[in-house]
Amino acid sequence: MPKRPVARIYPGTARHLATLARRLSAGELVAVPTETVYGLAANALDARACQKIFTAKGRPTTDPLIVHIHALAQLVDIAEPNKAAHLLAKKFWPGPLTLVLPKKSVVPAIVSAGLPSVAVRMPSHPLFRRLLKLVGVPLAAPSANPFGYVSPTTAQHVRDGLGNKIRYILDGGPAHIGLESTIVDVRDPARPRLLRPGAITRAELEFALGRKVAITARRTPQSAVSQAQLAPGLLARHYSPRTPIVLHATLPGRPAGARDEAWVLAAKPKGSTAPNVFWLDAHGELRGAARRLFATLRRLDDGRFKQIHFALARGGGLADAINDRLRRAAAR
Ligand code: AMP
Ligand code: MG
Repeated sequence: MPKRPVARIYPGTARHLATLARRLSAGELVAVPTETVYGLAANALDARACQKIFTAKGRPTTDPLIVHIHALAQLVDIAEPNKAAHLLAKKFWPGPLTLVLPKKSVVPAIVSAGLPSVAVRMPSHPLFRRLLKLVGVPLAAPSANPFGYVSPTTAQHVRDGLGNKIRYILDGGPAHIGLESTIVDVRDPARPRLLRPGAITRAELEFALGRKVAITARRTPQSAVSQAQLAPGLLARHYSPRTPIVLHATLPGRPAGARDEAWVLAAKPKGSTAPNVFWLDAHGELRGAARRLFATLRRLDDGRFKQIHFALARGGGLADAINDRLRRAAAR
């Protein structure tokens, strides 16, 4: 039997960064910290290396990858930026914004799932940036988790999910933002479209571009507030946590319910709480909630609870991104 790889977590010393850059140049996979979530990186110009990403994650090849760059000079190597792209890049890069642009032919078809477009992002995480610079080529990187499960926000999350599929994990600490990047399609600069909400909000994009940004309907159901209980058997294969998620527009500060159900509130209630009551941020702040959302989903998804109730985030902007992930976690 072939030996399974065992992932090792590397602290970001200069020596380890150099080693990991060599592994990437040799066509191997390295899990990397980013400010959004941990990514599973490969040389974006090497089709065989990128194929390994899909194999390790069990990701269908119809789902295209985001390509990461460390300098603006790399953008024109892989894509055809226009004025709108330059405007957004200038304003939000490095940062949690992905631009979809016409693709150049050096980018292999597997990266873009055969599409004539490519998704590009310049991340801000300092360790990932140093690695990108050392490797010198753009790196394709989706989230470093088995396809369909909750995205990883720590090196340990990556090892929990892919520990026997990959060898190298660079540890950059807990992800600062905690949600995947905002994706905006700017192929037609006159009609920008938001493909995925994230920490850069639609209002910020509209302000920077001086025009409306349309929302593209997701493939997943948009069931606003689902009170329906979902069959766990159906969820296990396709969707985020194994435990069914139930969403609520509001939750009482002191939810009364069975002890085998978890309640996740927007903020910490005053006074003592039952052991099945949790909150994403003590003060109900959205940034803290975003940062802790995926870790909380993972922690509560250990079989203790037969259902997890979540209060939807309130307000626009980052709340839209949080609620998008909650709805997808709850969707069947
Ligand atoms: P992630 O799974 O976080 O790496 O994000 C990848 C997502 O980016 C895909 O599922 C698509 O929604 C989007 N994406 C990547 N490349 C393209 C592209 N060329 N055109 C449109 N969307 C893309
Ligand atoms: Mg993903």
